[in-house]
Amino acid sequence: MHEMSLAVAVVEQVDGALRDEPPGTVETVRLQVGELAGVVPDALHFSFTLACEGTVLEGAALHIDTVPGRARCTPCGAEWATGMPPRLHCPDCRSTAAALVAGRELQIVSVHRADHGTVPAPTPASEEN
Ligand SMILES: [Zn+2]
Repeated sequence: MHEMSLAVAVVEQVDGALRDEPPGTVETVRLQVGELAGVVPDALHFSFTLACEGTVLEGAALHIDTVPGRARCTPCGAEWATGMPPRLHCPDCRSTAAALVAGRELQIVSVHRADHGTVPAPTPASEEN
């Protein structure tokens, strides 16, 4: 399953960078995923949760930024959104010599970590009545 191997790769990369941190340190991992990368977001979310278990990423949320597919015509330079499934012939000159300029991204944008120094202490319940 494509999403599972992708999720494992992301977790290994972040886990390797934060190896000495306690579990639960990572709050959010933000990924850039191209529209044409062949990734099903729901499947990636599910796989990510499984891949995080037993690592410093346990309990972390995955945020996916979808990058729309874009192509550029080689002969005339026109650029258009490919859509999905991708449309790769030029709307201006009808050439099929197009190059993808966006939409195949698969990369970690950022990792948000909890700040353990600012966790508020619980309010005493005895003063409530
Ligand atoms: Zn063209």
